Amino acid sequence: MIKIALLGSTGSIGRQVLSVVRRYPDKFKIITMAAGSNAVLFSEQINEFKPKIACLTNPEKVSQIKEIPLGTQFYYGENALLHAVDSEADIVFDAVMGYAGLKAVKYAIELKKNVALANKETLVAGGSLIMPMAKEAGVNIIPVDSEHSAIFQCLNFNANKQFKNILITASGGALRNVPIEELEKVSANDALMHPNWNMGKKITIDCATMVNKGFEVIEAMWLFNAKRENIKVVVHPESIVHSLVEFDDGAIMAQMGVPSMELPIQLALTYPERLPIENHALNLYGKTLNFSEIDKNRYPCFDVVDRAIKLGGVYPCAISAADERIVELFLQGKIKYTEIAIYLEKVLEKIENISVTFDSLEYVDRLSRIIVDEIYKIRGSL
Ligand code: NDP
Ligand code: MG
Repeated sequence: MIKIALLGSTGSIGRQVLSVVRRYPDKFKIITMAAGSNAVLFSEQINEFKPKIACLTNPEKVSQIKEIPLGTQFYYGENALLHAVDSEADIVFDAVMGYAGLKAVKYAIELKKNVALANKETLVAGGSLIMPMAKEAGVNIIPVDSEHSAIFQCLNFNANKQFKNILITASGGALRNVPIEELEKVSANDALMHPNWNMGKKITIDCATMVNKGFEVIEAMWLFNAKRENIKVVVHPESIVHSLVEFDDGAIMAQMGVPSMELPIQLALTYPERLPIENHALNLYGKTLNFSEIDKNRYPCFDVVDRAIKLGGVYPCAISAADERIVELFLQGKIKYTEIAIYLEKVLEKIENISVTFDSLEYVDRLSRIIVDEIYKIRGSL
């Protein structure tokens, strides 16, 4: 029985973790659960799974929790996520959205708990601190993001295996067929219509802009100890090949499957064992696979993230934090889609490089969001 501390249970990934647990109740047990603000769904979840610890970070929503099961300890407030980690769980499943996920991973490593990592902001912002810490503590950081799970599978579940290049696939997002000159006019709803994947709002917008792909390059660098020049991004609109690994002899291994997170989520908990998933077979008959390079005119945000990667230090953290705030403004209809790249660029210009510590990341995270709001004040709303 694998005991799981699930952080972000009410989100898109979190809900799918719970489907996996429902599918194999004799293999998995939810020991703790944590969420942010969706107290109504959280209330249903804790009454179904009866965890030993339940945590809601938003104190204003606690009154919406109808009933706490007998035997469940309940925590709320800013540090609630840490209570969720500090439990008898064997593995911490971090499916929180945003920078909040990083502190939880740090604490999990301190407690020597393996981490199934969906929260990409952890490695984007803090990979240079988290990975050495995990190595020293002997903690596994297991990829959940579909591309990184694919790479992990192509490497036979050995993140240290030698390879030549990693090829990360990208669907191109919701706006891939919109003429570039019309991108200025697209609404948040247009950008949320992802053709292949059903995900949380923030990551769906990041897929449209390819900020997400930039973040995935960073994730891959940390997870597989890869240099930037050994990672290529390949646009693959069908989302059938989830990523590839090229070896020195020219062989390229790919992992294919239907576009669903259930496989990477389940595999992160069971690898190297593979358990059946019903209705999950990929029918290849009649399918065509296309691969092309990124069109830099269509996806200027990818280049900005790439610049942050090259600058290193606290810059990826700044871009990640700024992007969270910028996407909020875009989702609220306050800025144009095409302004996202402009804002990101300006944040990069304004951030000074300081040495990376957990405290400096916290500072840069906050500062970057403030800078976005200041730019917004100057540029004005739509
Ligand atoms: P969602 O927005 O759907 O869910 C986010 C979850 O995090 C919710 O449970 C939310 O709680 C919780 N949360 C947010 N902030 C806090 C906080 N401060 N404290 C505690 N809980 C918090 O996001 P996704 O599930 O789409 O994504 C989660 C992570 O996984 C992201 O980092 C994303 O990039 C990554 N990922 C997602 C994929 C996908 O298919 N969705 C694919 C690959 C990676 P509440 O809703 O209750 O406020
Ligand atoms: Mg992904």
